Amino acid sequence: MQDIKVYNNLIRKKETFKTIEAGKVKFYSCGPTTYDFLHIGNARALVVGDLFHRVLKAFGYDVTFVRNFTDVDDKIIERAHKEGRGAIEHAALFVEECKIDMESLGMEPATHTPKVSETMPEIIEMIQDIIKNGKGYEVSGEVFFEVPKFADYGKLSKKDLDSLQHGVRVEVDSKKRNPADFVLWKPAKDGEPSWDSPWGKGRPGWHIECSAMAKKFLGPTLDLHHGGVDLMFPHHENEIAQSEAANNCPFCNTWAHNEFLNFGSEKMSKSLGNVVKIRDFVNMYGGQVLRHVLLSVHYRARLEWSEEVIQKAIEEIKRIHEFVIDVRTWNSAVAGEVDQEINKLFDKFKYELTNDFNSAGAMGHFFSMIRYVKGKKDSISKETLSRVHEVINFVADSLGLVARDPQSVLSKLEELERANIDVDVDESWVLGLIEERKVAKATKNWARADEIRKELAASRVILKDNPDGSTEWKIQ
Ligand code: AMP
Ligand code: ZN
Repeated sequence: MQDIKVYNNLIRKKETFKTIEAGKVKFYSCGPTTYDFLHIGNARALVVGDLFHRVLKAFGYDVTFVRNFTDVDDKIIERAHKEGRGAIEHAALFVEECKIDMESLGMEPATHTPKVSETMPEIIEMIQDIIKNGKGYEVSGEVFFEVPKFADYGKLSKKDLDSLQHGVRVEVDSKKRNPADFVLWKPAKDGEPSWDSPWGKGRPGWHIECSAMAKKFLGPTLDLHHGGVDLMFPHHENEIAQSEAANNCPFCNTWAHNEFLNFGSEKMSKSLGNVVKIRDFVNMYGGQVLRHVLLSVHYRARLEWSEEVIQKAIEEIKRIHEFVIDVRTWNSAVAGEVDQEINKLFDKFKYELTNDFNSAGAMGHFFSMIRYVKGKKDSISKETLSRVHEVINFVADSLGLVARDPQSVLSKLEELERANIDVDVDESWVLGLIEERKVAKATKNWARADEIRKELAASRVILKDNPDGSTEWKIQ
């Protein structure tokens, strides 16, 4: 187990990461709301959570990692309604899609991946505790958290309650006692999913779910909590208020937030309409490329999405995997000490990872090692070679940027490069030729029909004639 420095947003400082129990980490990361396919901004939050998980494990910590699925939410209800599905069924569908994306991003499984819909007893119990402790109140089936009763409110976001109370617009029909109060439980409307509770049929407010899921699997106090920087307020501030009000003890000792992935200078978000879905990107370039792009920048720095960062990632992935394939064929009969330069670069690599999970800095040292080792091919000792393999395995475990099967990554990139070139094929041109071929065949002009098939094949368009006379085409 090695010391790790983490930038803790509670104190706005980097500090040596402390855990409640030596060597054990209770880690919670806010997971996605499953109403649609995820976008690459969501992927950044997911991959950063995976980075923390992997790095902590690689440095010897025993990590219990909880990442939830938010499967009860206004956006889900709205979208399910539009598509004529039940909300729970709709969310379950996208939980499965989300798992497919996570796998393509090379993410390791979390220890627990709870859903809100499966945590109702714990949510209700926590709301009851908050009320019992005098920090929550019910008004005709609706339960609120009474913010002014929680003295520490604002300790994470550094917002002060007075300005918050004045800054919040009070809804005319609000049942709240104070403008900053927020919902813990709301009565369900017709057609919405609902659960029985002491306050009647209803569903939880957004924030309480994470407080309850964290407690269920990790206990009342966590070591580390992560989410995108947009979640710091109000979501995480409210999680702290709820958990500490219910449990009478600190909720979490270290808070870490990833910065945004931006398109141009704007945050990628559905409402701005500048969304690239993970699935679409992966179909075009493969998940390895997306993961590489996301880890090529420190998690607390903004990541500007551009064609250049994608091309740079592709080039680096090739460099890494060509090297790994090559070095596995090397043999050395020379005995000797491990080359000190390799040890130094490995130390620097590890230092960067323990320095607030600096994946970008760490990769820089790995590339230096690749360059150095290539120059030593003819004189490398057995011991050095085995250390190089050890470094490669460590990079694979801690960052997931070296695939277990490097050849498959290279082949996939080549295949995708070919396919991406062919995306330029003009569909109307293909359909026109298929139509002309149909006529040629009907008039028994076999030579022309053949010629058309060949012409299309030259652009990698492959035809398949069906028994019913129709013709399908695809790009090979
Ligand atoms: P949501 O599904 O909106 O609850 O978001 C799931 C996670 O993705 C949260 O941790 C968000 O902070 C994060 N997230 C959403 N958009 C972006 C973005 N453009 N860049 C980075 N993280 C994001
Ligand atoms: Zn959360």
